[in-house]
Amino acid sequence: MSFFNTTAKPFLIAGPCSAETEEQVMGIGEQLSKMPISLFRAGVWKPRTKPGSFEGVGEDALKWLQQLKKEYRLPITVEVAEATHVELALKYGVDVLWLGARTTVNPFQVQNIAEALRGVDIPVMVKNPVNPDVDLWEGAIERLERVGIKDIAAIHRGFSTYNAASIYRNQPNWPIPIELMRRRPEMTMICDPSHITGKREMVANISQKAMDMGYAGLMIETHQQPDEAWSDARQQVSPSSLQEILDNLIVRAAHDPAMNERMGLEHYRTIMDGIDAEIIDLISRRMELSDKIGSIKNEHNMTVYQPERWREIVETRGERAKNLHLSTDFIVAVYELIHNESIKKQLRILDNLQKDINA
Ligand code: PEP
Ligand code: MN
Repeated sequence: MSFFNTTAKPFLIAGPCSAETEEQVMGIGEQLSKMPISLFRAGVWKPRTKPGSFEGVGEDALKWLQQLKKEYRLPITVEVAEATHVELALKYGVDVLWLGARTTVNPFQVQNIAEALRGVDIPVMVKNPVNPDVDLWEGAIERLERVGIKDIAAIHRGFSTYNAASIYRNQPNWPIPIELMRRRPEMTMICDPSHITGKREMVANISQKAMDMGYAGLMIETHQQPDEAWSDARQQVSPSSLQEILDNLIVRAAHDPAMNERMGLEHYRTIMDGIDAEIIDLISRRMELSDKIGSIKNEHNMTVYQPERWREIVETRGERAKNLHLSTDFIVAVYELIHNESIKKQLRILDNLQKDINA
């Protein structure tokens, strides 16, 4: 029987990003103990991007968590990133361990942790690696299975991106967890909307999406005073907001036949979103080239519109479209729009350059 297979749906993990003080841990524990929480989370050793940030309290925090567990009868979970963390977590009666994204990414580290867990009967949750690699995620799960860990859940917390304009802190990349679900239909899937979004106001939306995709659980960072949190302040929610998220959550039936369809649809839509982004990036690059050509035409006193070039575009692009079984008319229509925009831009360039000369 899996620890994650509770009657409460979703399987809810809540608690602060980090255990900060004894008062904070006991305070949030008291509030969460009145809610349908299956597991209390708190980071005790924090993997921080830059040195000098709050790196967790360590062993002392395990003592507070042990006290919380006893007083509020809540099972507890912490992140372990080294074999010594495993030993300490076991010493203080931690019920479930989790591997963080920065650990899953490193097979040596995962193996060290797995060795420390050989022969230990404890549920373990494995967050996706920071990079979008389903094999690496599954590899970490396999390393744990090989040392005898039987009860494993996967946590989807999103993937790093260099796209500064992204609305997410970590890109969800839904096709990756979907692929893990395809390979491991029995695997408990938990979504961490806090680290995906990085913003508390988006947590409800991603939580619902996870329910729509058939995830069994949610891990939501919760803090009494989120804005005062020592780590991840922007994404943590208050206990009352957590309650509101739960009240509005539509939990789908586990074997909803429409779910597979939705998952397939989601898979294709995410890929399509990526293709559209590429199309727009390419059009932007094409327009940049067109600007350069505009300056050259000006320099050599050439006309902006050159009929033989346009004829060549229609012919070659039309031919390519035909070979790919696309309608020639459709692709030529798209190129009319692009070419007109290009000409408009070049005329503007010529106009501005002439003004500069006359000034
Ligand atoms: C966390 O859960 O607080 C955490 C550090 O997560 P991740 O490994 O997903 O960054
Ligand atoms: Mn966090």
